[in-house]
Amino acid sequence: MATTDHSDNTLKIAVVGSGPSGFYAAEALLRADLPVQVDMLERLPTPFGLVRSGVAPDHPKLKEVIKVYDRIARNPEFRFLGNVALGEDLTVDELQANYHAIVLACGAQSDRRMGIPGEDLPGSHTATEFVGWFNGHPDYRDLAFDLDGEVAVIVGQGNVAADVCRILAKPVRELRSTDISEHALEALAQSRIREIHIVGRRGPAQARFTPRELRELGEIPDCVTLANSDDLRLGPHCETEIEDPQNGNAGKNCALFREFAANQTGDARTQVRFHFYRSPSEVLGSNRVTGLRLERNRLDGPAFAQVARPTGETTTLDCDLLFRSIGYKGVPIPGLPFDDVRGIVPNQAGRVAVNDRTVPGVYVTGWLKRGPSGVIGTNRADSVETVKHLLSDLADAPATSKPGHQGLEELLRQRRAEQVSYQQWLQIDEAEVMRGQPRGKPREKFTRVRDMLACAGRK
Ligand code: NAP
Repeated sequence: MATTDHSDNTLKIAVVGSGPSGFYAAEALLRADLPVQVDMLERLPTPFGLVRSGVAPDHPKLKEVIKVYDRIARNPEFRFLGNVALGEDLTVDELQANYHAIVLACGAQSDRRMGIPGEDLPGSHTATEFVGWFNGHPDYRDLAFDLDGEVAVIVGQGNVAADVCRILAKPVRELRSTDISEHALEALAQSRIREIHIVGRRGPAQARFTPRELRELGEIPDCVTLANSDDLRLGPHCETEIEDPQNGNAGKNCALFREFAANQTGDARTQVRFHFYRSPSEVLGSNRVTGLRLERNRLDGPAFAQVARPTGETTTLDCDLLFRSIGYKGVPIPGLPFDDVRGIVPNQAGRVAVNDRTVPGVYVTGWLKRGPSGVIGTNRADSVETVKHLLSDLADAPATSKPGHQGLEELLRQRRAEQVSYQQWLQIDEAEVMRGQPRGKPREKFTRVRDMLACAGRK
């Protein structure tokens, strides 16, 4: 939406990625007391990253932050360029030639792997795939999840595992008035899943759920949440951990697990059972998943640094469907360094750097900077830190003028890229809201890029 005429001393900054960290970086830049223009590139035609395609549909309050991002996007010095992919439509070198600095805010678009036999058998999925599918992300639109069996296992005990569990366990009537994609709603309406096992490699004191999300699992209608009371007898290090006021979630989680352990199976339609001290060692099945071999662990190490050590004792858990929810991972950006172990772009407080040598003009923020941790708001402070360093570096650099969006537009024209402006996104937004109305949903998302582009008048 840029309208102002700019003299050459305007800082031209490209932000790559339109999720929370990208918008908070844009906000911090636009608040700086300097002439600055921010161009935000996004590979999809639609903005907001994980807020649109990661936050669970039954958590609408978490999506209200979009109003904040919308206000940022309406700043006259801000421009959204959707459907423009770094690495496909443009290279890092080309961005560097056109902008004073680049802020990478591409998030963590892939998953950690368990690294065990059978991991890729049909019926074994990443949480990312399932979440992307029910949230209507075009990359996952055509996936199919076989919900004909009765037993699902989720590996990992974080909030993404909780999201996957709720969507599987909730009666479909609870989801109908959310913005869950219709193709997912139809499939879930036929689901026969009645048993969900959530497996953690460490103990209840180390589960990564936030208590609010864990409590919510205990409140699903027609569903009982269960835990084994033997697993809740904590060793001294775990007691130390749950008594620490800085670690309040652990104590609250353990209290909730105790409530779950006291529950009776009863005649609930669905059961959710928590397993602790178990690491998957093999996904079983020849043509598709039929079970999971689990190795029992003990905890080793001091309080707050206890790790799971295998004991050699194994059990099997029969299942029809498996979800791996063990954390996200960033993906490398062609032309830039990447830390493959941590799944991040190596950096010093946001300055992209390898072995103490910074890459001039390239910055990183959000999950691609620190790894996939924290809640949406965590990204604000993270982006403020990155932008602070960016501005201080530019203040020290000799003044140069850069073409900014004019140069970029020229490149995109040459490549016949079909970029989508913020105004065009607003057209898509309005159409989605209208599509949702007959079904009583806040919106029915377009799930195919071609439909988004058609709605934006691009194709
Ligand atoms: P997470 O919180 O880091 O949880 C990952 C889980 O996977 C942990 O239980 C971890 O156990 C386990 N794990 C990792 N490697 C494993 C392995 N090789 N084998 C078995 N288990 C393994 O990650 P997440 O659930 O993907 O969530 C990512 C971030 O998004 C978090 O900060 C989360 O709070 C946030 N989020 C928030 C919401 C919300 O606010 N409603 C919703 C979704 C996500 P260890 O602890 O032993 O490593």
